[in-house]
This record gives sequence, C-alpha cells and structure tokens, in this order.
Amino acid sequence: MSQPPCPDAEMYLAVLSHLPHAVIVVDAAGALLFSNAPAQALLPGGVAGLGGCGEPSSYQVLDGHHRALAGADLPLNRLLGGQCLQDEELLLVASAPACTHWITATGRPLAGPGQAAALLVLQDISAAKQQEANLLQQAFHDTLTGLPNRDLFMDRLGHALARTHDQPQVLMALLFIDLDRFKVINDNLGHQVGDDLLIEIAARLRSQLRPDVTIARLGGDEFAVLLEDMATSSTAIDLAEQIQAAIAQPLLLQQQEVYVEASIGIALGPAAYKSASDWLRDADVAMYQIKDNPSHAWHVFDNSLRVQQDLRLRTEIDLRQALMSNELRLHYQPIVMLNTEEICGFEALVRWQHPTRGLLLPGEFIHIAEATGLIIPLGWWVLAEACRQMQAWTLAFPAMANFTVSVNMSSKQFSQQNLVERIQQILAETGFSANRLKIEITEGVLIDHSDSIIDTLEQIKALGIKLLVDDFGTGYSSLSYLHRFPFDCLKIDRSFIENADQDFEKLEILQSVVRLAWNLGLDVVAEGVETTRHHAQLKALRCELGQGYLFSRPLAPTAIEAMMAEKIAQRLDPAPVTQAS
Ligand code: C2E
Ligand code: MG
Ligand code: MG
Repeated sequence: MSQPPCPDAEMYLAVLSHLPHAVIVVDAAGALLFSNAPAQALLPGGVAGLGGCGEPSSYQVLDGHHRALAGADLPLNRLLGGQCLQDEELLLVASAPACTHWITATGRPLAGPGQAAALLVLQDISAAKQQEANLLQQAFHDTLTGLPNRDLFMDRLGHALARTHDQPQVLMALLFIDLDRFKVINDNLGHQVGDDLLIEIAARLRSQLRPDVTIARLGGDEFAVLLEDMATSSTAIDLAEQIQAAIAQPLLLQQQEVYVEASIGIALGPAAYKSASDWLRDADVAMYQIKDNPSHAWHVFDNSLRVQQDLRLRTEIDLRQALMSNELRLHYQPIVMLNTEEICGFEALVRWQHPTRGLLLPGEFIHIAEATGLIIPLGWWVLAEACRQMQAWTLAFPAMANFTVSVNMSSKQFSQQNLVERIQQILAETGFSANRLKIEITEGVLIDHSDSIIDTLEQIKALGIKLLVDDFGTGYSSLSYLHRFPFDCLKIDRSFIENADQDFEKLEILQSVVRLAWNLGLDVVAEGVETTRHHAQLKALRCELGQGYLFSRPLAPTAIEAMMAEKIAQRLDPAPVTQAS
C-alpha cells in the first residue's frame, strides 16, 4: 500500500479499509496506489488482470457473456481512458487456486492534484448469483431427474425456430419419447420404484446424447430430445433406435428386475414450423401412431399424419353432433353355447351412421370419444339403448326372455362418481333385469383405477349384473387381478383363437387360460370364432361360450328381428334357452 494522497489520509484510509467492498486506486500508469483488505483478498495476484501494472495476473476477467476481456476493454484501462463504470457484471476466474467470483464493477476516473487517476470498487456478488442460478434451475428443471423441464424445452425450441431466419437449410429433429407400461410399474411396484425408474431413464438418455443436445422431461413418463444440426434425417432415426435399445435394457430397481420400452415420435424441423407448440404437437402425434399400431417403435411425422389429424378433429366435431342428432346405432352380435350352437345372448356394439361417411365402425371413432371425454355420454346412450332394446325384444319374442346382453364400458366411465346410481336408474327406467346384463371391461380399466375400482365393481355386482374381462390376454396379462376383482367371466381375445390351430404355444396358453378360469369358477367366452376348426378346438377344450363370424357377424336390430321371426316361422325356436352364466 502506498502513501496517503492528502493530509486527512489516515481518516480516509480507515474509512476505506473498513468498507466491505474491494476498493482500488491506481495512478495514470495503472500502478496501484491503494487497495483495501477485501481487494487484496479478491485479487491476490494484484491488479494486472484488471488492466493495471504489476506481476502477470493469475486470474482472467470475463464479461457477463463469459467472453475474456483484454487490453482497452479491461476495467482499469477503461477508467484510465476516461470512461465510468456502473454496476458492470464481470466474472473473475482464477487458476491457482482455481475459483470464480461474480463481481460488479463501479468506478470513475479521478481528476485532481494528486497522483490518483482512477477509483474502482468491486462487489462480490457470487452468493446472489448462485441463488439466482438455483432459482433458475428450479424454475426450468425437473426436480426428480434434473433435466430441463417443459418450459425450458419450449424456450429452446423457440430459439431453434429463430435460427431458421439466418439458416433456412438447417435440419433438426424433435424426438418425443413416451415410456410404455410406466403406469403399470408405478401402480404395481410403488411410486418410489417409479421415481427411480425415471431417474435411471434420464441417465440413460444423457449417456446416449452429446452434452449439447437438449433433453427434457416434459412430465410424467414423457421425455423429449431436440437434435440440432443433423446431416440427414436418418441421424434422428438412428438415434431413436439407439435410445430405444438403451431404455430396453433391464433395470434393477429395489432388487426387482424391471423392463420398459419406449415409443418415439419424430418430427423433423424446423423449416415446417411457425411455432414451438406445433412442432411438439406433431412429434406427439407421431408418437401416438405407434401406440395405435405398435409394429414400429418409432414413427416420423409426415403430412399424411396431418391429414389424419384433421380427420380426427373433424370426427370429434361431428361426433358431438352425432350424440345430439341420434346418429349412433347398436348392432348385436350373437353369443352362442358352443355345444349346441344355440344363442344365449348378444354383445351390443356401437356404430355411427355418419351423414356423409356412411356406417362407421368403433375403430374409427371410439378412440376419439375416449380422448375427448365424449365416451361418457356415448357410453350412457349405449347402456340405455341396449337395455331398452332387450326389454322390447323380451316382450316381442318370448324365446329371448333369458337372453343376456353384454355392454362394453370404457375406463373413462369408471371415473364418474355416480356410476352405480346411473346404471341402477337405467335398469329401473327400461325395466330390464340386472341379471341379464353383463358389463365388459378391459384390463386397462383395472390398471387405470387399480385402487378405487374394487368398490365400484362390488357395487355393480351387488345389483345382480355380471362382470366380464374383455380381450383377455392382450393387456398386461397380470393374473393377480383375477383373484382381486369380482369377475364372473373371461372373454379370451381373438388373437389366441386365431392362431391356436397352427401355433402350438397359443393353443397351450388357451388351454391354460380355460383351465385357470375353471379353477377360479369363471365362465369363458371365446372371441373371434371364425372357422369350424376353431369351434371344434374350443369345444375340445371345454370352453362353453363363443362369439364370432362363424356363427354371426354383429347384426342390426332389424336383422335380429328377422332372424327371430324366421325361427318362429320355422317353429325352430332357439328355446329351451338356458341362462348363460
Ligand atoms: P370388443 O368389445 O372386443 O368387440 C368385439 C369386436 O370383435 C367387434 O368389433 C366384433 O365385430 C369383432 N368380432 C367379433 N367376431 C369376430 C370374428 O370372428 N372375427 C373378427 N375379425 N372380428 C370379430 P367392433 O364392433 O368393430 O368393435 C371393436 C371394439 O370397439 C370392441 O371390441 C370394443 O372394444 C369397442 N366398442 C364397441 N362398442 C363399444 C361401446 O359401446 N362402448 C365402448 N366403450 N367400446 C365399444
Ligand atoms: Mg367387448
Ligand atoms: Mg373383445
């Protein structure tokens, strides 16, 4: 420290020495005239790094954008050049010992009789910067995996889109990754295992990608990757396959081996997009293609999907209208006793008499009804109409007095509070007997509502209604629920019947399912009986009930009435009809 510049120097010196900020005074040549203790602690190697004279500096000064400053841009040189500094954020990076400090620099040139030519005050703001960084991390990152969250990902997409102004040819890909069966794992193995799984998947994604690639967790079991600067679009496909292989490796979570797979939708950009949300939506649509048709594990969005999406939107709008304009119809597919081939009931299957597209099958609209919640009014209409029609037939055709009707109910319907009361109300209004009604639900319903549904099913059963698992064997094939839930009947999926005559393994499965059902006291209905061979095989397995094109396709009510009238005319009543299960 040099001599004080004026007679009151001791007092000023004492004041400056007790300031909490670093104070530096230099002469016109940049030589240090004064520095207090905080300055010496902050700049152990002297002021050369700031532009002053002295020993070569052991630290570097960077600006707020992390660019290294040199020469006339260094703070002391700017002051000596006549500029003032006001709260400028700078970064001091020391190499030995390695440390960084965020500082603000405020200073001015000094014009006076003494030697002092510039005053610089530095404030260490590292703690505040760290706090700010923590807040940003929390606001823009997923707390579980540490990955960027949806907000940050959308922001990065926005920046990527902005790049197209200068670089219209640049090729990028957005990968939308959805884990298959995550919900099953979460519900069955517990949320801790679910969390561990997500952390592990995030780590696997990181391990597959360069550090500069943005990977985000969008929420739940959805992740996204933004791949910038690709050479060709096949880079994205190669990467999707690589990610899939990494995710499909078994995981050991809390001593349990867990397997998951991923569906990946790819949307190439950014030239085709005006907004980040459109881009993300298309990758999502591409991903859903796989869920609908899982022959590939990745799918690239193309314009035909946009056409499909438009059709989907159109269908949604029309379906709302259809519910009000009575365009829905029920067809009834006979269920027969395999031994006698006598009909003992029907499955009610919804159709839509579309004003321009003709008669639509459920495959064309049920998933849209599910996705939009329209399945709820649709489902109530189906139940009420099936009960009404069956009751009308009971009065018109005494031979149908014991026929049952099976109605499909979707998972969404089970979210309603007053489900049981509504069913009861429909039975009361139509006069149809509860013990002739069967409700078909798929394994997915049990997965979606695993905790809450037992009560509801028990209440439905208490009304006298029979409960049936539909498409058995296609879902999660967890047999445990057959014990836990109060089912009366299993409906074996068509895929088992289809191949059982050629595929020995399928036959074995079929055999064990029938045996299992017997042991649990459940009835079995075989779906998709198309040939006499299927029929013979099922009879040999002692499966009692069947449904399929061999006996009849689903029929419009008029066709059912014609069939019944013909039977009466031929005096070939299907009676005596025994109550099916
Ligand atoms: P599901 O409940 O498994 O119904 C059986 C489906 O298999 C029907 O298709 C039926 O026509 C078809 N099928 C029956 N026998 C054969 C056969 O021998 N060979 C072949 N290839 N197919 C056969 P559909 O009517 O197209 O219905 C498809 C699905 O739509 C139904 O599958 C059910 O999941 C859903 N669905 C139909 N109606 C309703 C409804 O009212 N509500 C709800 N939530 N879903 C419904
Ligand atoms: Mg069904
Ligand atoms: Mg089925």
